[in-house]
Amino acid sequence: MPEPVIVRATARSSTVSAPAARAVRARAELLAALPRPTEPGPATATTCYVWPTDYCDVGCAHCNFASPRPPHVRHRFEVADNLDRVLRLVNGMGLWKAVLSGGGEPMMKPAFCQGFIRQVDSPNLAEVELITSGSFAVSITRTRQEIAALAAAWRARGAHRADVTFTIRVSLDWFHARRIGIEPAANILRVLGEPAFEDIGVYLRSVLLDDDRTVSDLACILDATLSPVHDYQQSLSLPDGRDIVVYYKNLILDGRMTRGRLDSLPVRLPEASRAAVFGDRFKNDAGRHVPARVYNGPTVVHLDGLATIVEASGGIKILEGNHPDRYPRLPETSDWADAVSLLYADPITVALVHGGPDLLVQLIANEYPQMADVTSATNQLYYLAEKILADPVVSLFATVRSVEFAVDAGILPASALDAALSARHEWESVR
Ligand code: SF4
Repeated sequence: MPEPVIVRATARSSTVSAPAARAVRARAELLAALPRPTEPGPATATTCYVWPTDYCDVGCAHCNFASPRPPHVRHRFEVADNLDRVLRLVNGMGLWKAVLSGGGEPMMKPAFCQGFIRQVDSPNLAEVELITSGSFAVSITRTRQEIAALAAAWRARGAHRADVTFTIRVSLDWFHARRIGIEPAANILRVLGEPAFEDIGVYLRSVLLDDDRTVSDLACILDATLSPVHDYQQSLSLPDGRDIVVYYKNLILDGRMTRGRLDSLPVRLPEASRAAVFGDRFKNDAGRHVPARVYNGPTVVHLDGLATIVEASGGIKILEGNHPDRYPRLPETSDWADAVSLLYADPITVALVHGGPDLLVQLIANEYPQMADVTSATNQLYYLAEKILADPVVSLFATVRSVEFAVDAGILPASALDAALSARHEWESVR
């Protein structure tokens, strides 16, 4: 039974060379010596993706996160068992949008999902979304039961909580269809057409591939028609008059899904599905992709606040916006002010929140020009910061450069350069 790729990667990183260990120690000493930053970035989180669990019974070939739960998994913290702590954290973030996502399959934890939908709150909260493969939707009856429970939770929010829309995003692509077919997605669309659920939003998320008939087949069994694809979206027009958005994303060639493995499949990767091309739709006015500040749904929204993640194991992260090895965890804090303060105490986070992985690559380009190729070489769009910072020696240098960036930007005082200089000397001796 496969393990989530993210777990295997963590296990691998436990063996480190002597230079790497020195670089890790020098980075820790640098962070400890830095003064507190002034206005390092937004203090609110506009979006939060909450992962109730790491596990999913579907087990798609392209999924870098989820696997079926092993029979003898050791006990550890899981978000789905800690609704109160999650709510204490996310209700302090200042959210505009809350998303239940994975990680694994949120609907493996329906009670958590219902409690979250009912109680997540913030003065500006406008949207709650649930992302699901629909693997629960094995029959119309079961689909209706599960959706009715979600709808009841949404309707029980009460007048004292923010008046929010509720949307179900159904993940349906070639890989999902190989595992569970297209009938679950069809069942969800059929049930959401019933009068009791017509106020619940729905759209599909697929993966852009050539020679893939998945969405066409769905249209066929629903007697629907499909518009041409424009800006990675098309419209599925149902006979009852509903138009459902189908949003296509790029295929991540990383972890379980390699180019060699893709070559053995009957589907192909179109040019528009390459990360470098797909990533263009997320660029801000300055031409930068700043994941920490973007909502990446069918309509891209550049945010004033941060885009955050609460991982199933409790990690509190900024989307591509924090050092992969340094972030707060829900078992230790459920206070957002504490969490964001710890995140901004790392100058890497400050740089990533300001300019995204592009800025990080630019800061280290003189010494590590090969990092500019990370995106094009791997078709990787997300986890770029993790890739760039995987080597502790590179990470040390990136931290030094991020301190220099923060001093230039007036976020850290000039005195921070003394500590950065010592760390730079250490980097020179271990590079
Ligand atoms: S259904 Fe989604 S979470 Fe589950 S294995 Fe497939 S891609 Fe991963």
